[in-house]
Amino acid sequence: MYPTDHMRDMPAGASGQRPNILFVMADDHAANAIGAYGAHLSPVAPTDNIDRIAREGARLDNCFCTNAICTPSRASILTGEYGHRNGVRTLHDEIDPDREHLAHWLGDAGYDTAIVGKWHLHTDPAGFDHYEVLPGQGRYEDPTLREKGSETPTTREGYSTDVITDRALDWLGDRPGEDPFFLACHFKAPHEPWAYADRYEDLFEGVRIPEPSTLFEDKSHRSGATRERGSTLSPRNPIRNMVDQVGSEDWPTGAIDTSGTDDEERTRAAYQKHLADYLRTVAAIDDNVGRLLDYLDEAGIAEDTLVVYTSDQGMFLGEHDHIDKRWMYEEPLRMPLLARYPREIAPDSFVDGLLANVDFAPTLLDYAGVDVPDAVQGRSFRGHLSGDPPDDWREAVYYRYWMHRAHHDVPAHYGIRTRRYKLVFFYGLPLDAA
Ligand code: CA
Repeated sequence: MYPTDHMRDMPAGASGQRPNILFVMADDHAANAIGAYGAHLSPVAPTDNIDRIAREGARLDNCFCTNAICTPSRASILTGEYGHRNGVRTLHDEIDPDREHLAHWLGDAGYDTAIVGKWHLHTDPAGFDHYEVLPGQGRYEDPTLREKGSETPTTREGYSTDVITDRALDWLGDRPGEDPFFLACHFKAPHEPWAYADRYEDLFEGVRIPEPSTLFEDKSHRSGATRERGSTLSPRNPIRNMVDQVGSEDWPTGAIDTSGTDDEERTRAAYQKHLADYLRTVAAIDDNVGRLLDYLDEAGIAEDTLVVYTSDQGMFLGEHDHIDKRWMYEEPLRMPLLARYPREIAPDSFVDGLLANVDFAPTLLDYAGVDVPDAVQGRSFRGHLSGDPPDDWREAVYYRYWMHRAHHDVPAHYGIRTRRYKLVFFYGLPLDAA
């Protein structure tokens, strides 16, 4: 059943109110690069504003994407369906512009809806009252945005994360009515090419960024499908590795010298440069999350607004000598997820239930008091957030990556992850002897 107009006046849930929804999504933001997750990077790269969402709400530790690349994960978030059902399996698949998704359903229920920032589902965003989206991946500096109702894109001066937040705040400030809002604020950062804002030029001056314990791990025990595949931090993979990337003239913030013969030293130098630039782009996200939270406070609507912070998938930052994402390893598989809604979520909560990106749409619909359409495959985790998870919750999450070897030398694979185990089947490549 689809929501109808009469739901506009219906109260939702125990709080008796339908919350505003501020859905903030970064691009390739690893949980290891968020202070609230307490990983090895947190001492040198705090994220105080992002962490505030967890401090005043919940940190969710086991939320996983169903395909660790941008376009498919975004489609699953909007539709609540896995890629084999919504048709978005690869970076090249577009979302069917005629199909309904979360924005339509919330809009039909009386929400004011907008998306600002990265879209990356190829067709123009449907179902939103307003959109201002980057074409494709967009640019870090002076980004161009395609705006609903405008024939030509507009170039906005400034740094993309600041500009996206400016535009999101403008839309919030200009909203016409008393209806609740659903605002999807999607940053480009910290996706490559990691061009940071000028104000962070000196952020890691004199700082040695801690390395992950698995940077130089022995991979001899791995299967043939994984042992020598995938883009690496070290020069191990000649097709794509970070030593070559940061030594290239194309590196946006200036190449470093990675010449020399000692691969360990070259790898360590590449790690420092890669992480410094990545974390500088994260610093600007943190600033801007602070601006969004401040706005909610100043507008007096923080209590009435569900704030979600997540990323379309995680990211390797040198763990297992990998960079990039795509694999069903923990670092790309895990989506950071923080949520604040003071009326229902206790401060400093932790959720460890097995969640997936297909659960986002039904969860937000649940908060909005909207019946979840039958086609949605995920389930609402609102109960997890309020400390009362359902007894019959799933015991495994499913994953599938379809793009074998496409530009990062990763085999296609699918698998399941339970609390303790992971079973992965790699296919699509002639496998070396195991
Ligand atoms: Ca992404």
